[in-house]
Amino acid sequence: MLVPTLDLLKIAYGRFIVGAYNVQNMEQVLAVFRGSLKAQAPVIIATVPFARDYAGARMLQAMVRAADEMYPQAVAAMHLDHGDEAHCLDAIRSGFYSSVMIDASHLPFDENIAITRRIVERAHAAGISVEAELGVVAGQEADHSANAQSALTDPDQAAEFVARTGCDSLAVAIGTSHGAYKFQGEQRLHLDRLAEIRARLPQGFPLVLHGASSVPSDEIARINAAGGNLNPDARGVDPTEFAHLWPLGVTKVNIHTDAHLVWYRVHREHFRDYPKNFDFRHPGAIFMEEFVRLITTRSEQFGCAGMLNEVRERLHHNAAT
Ligand SMILES: [Zn+2]
Repeated sequence: MLVPTLDLLKIAYGRFIVGAYNVQNMEQVLAVFRGSLKAQAPVIIATVPFARDYAGARMLQAMVRAADEMYPQAVAAMHLDHGDEAHCLDAIRSGFYSSVMIDASHLPFDENIAITRRIVERAHAAGISVEAELGVVAGQEADHSANAQSALTDPDQAAEFVARTGCDSLAVAIGTSHGAYKFQGEQRLHLDRLAEIRARLPQGFPLVLHGASSVPSDEIARINAAGGNLNPDARGVDPTEFAHLWPLGVTKVNIHTDAHLVWYRVHREHFRDYPKNFDFRHPGAIFMEEFVRLITTRSEQFGCAGMLNEVRERLHHNAAT
């Protein structure tokens, strides 16, 4: 069942996190729906503009709609991740997405507000919600490489930004970054900053965390043992930290790098262990299983595993009132 993103975020607020998984191929789409069922957890399906360039917007839509027909008991919301103004307008017109992220956080504050405000007006007229971003989440972003140092979101600016743009959720920078190399040394999430941001926003306002893959060291070790070449010092968010996030208003966490690491590890190990195999279904099937495993693990850590019946009832109740 495809449902509105904002409904999921409101149900999740203060109680659990909904994982947003980026997809670009059939294997990922099937795994996300199967993961929702296996974990009994709602999921958000995200596409970045790169994915639309790779698979084509029509193909992505067709795959998601087909998977939704195959797994009608799953609960998923469709989200455009890291859109610029043109991408967002295209997604709003498509009638396929229930939410878009306008990524203008690299621009000066007032320009970010102006662009976000324009997208909010167009999106709301179409019944679509808008995620905006304030602060700099460093690392490789979808369309522009932000090698700048992360700049934590300013709580006063966050309050002004939300009030002036009318956005529905806000991605905040509290120390994470995109890509596999998030932290050096003992750097951690700035939960104190998150609490300050939440305190200045309207009650129940959903927050979002990007760049929050955990980049497990055993995954890196397995990749490198199978001929990969990733920095063994790469590390991400400690999964035990997720439980601190939803009491502070985080309702959505994006998982992108970890899913890529699963793909990388499965294929490297497969071709190392079965050098005569050239049937893509073999590693493909293993990849889907392993991606489902990642989704069930994250769903448990996000507190959303086992919540599907309740989420369905709440959605049904919301629709009826
Ligand atoms: Zn992101």
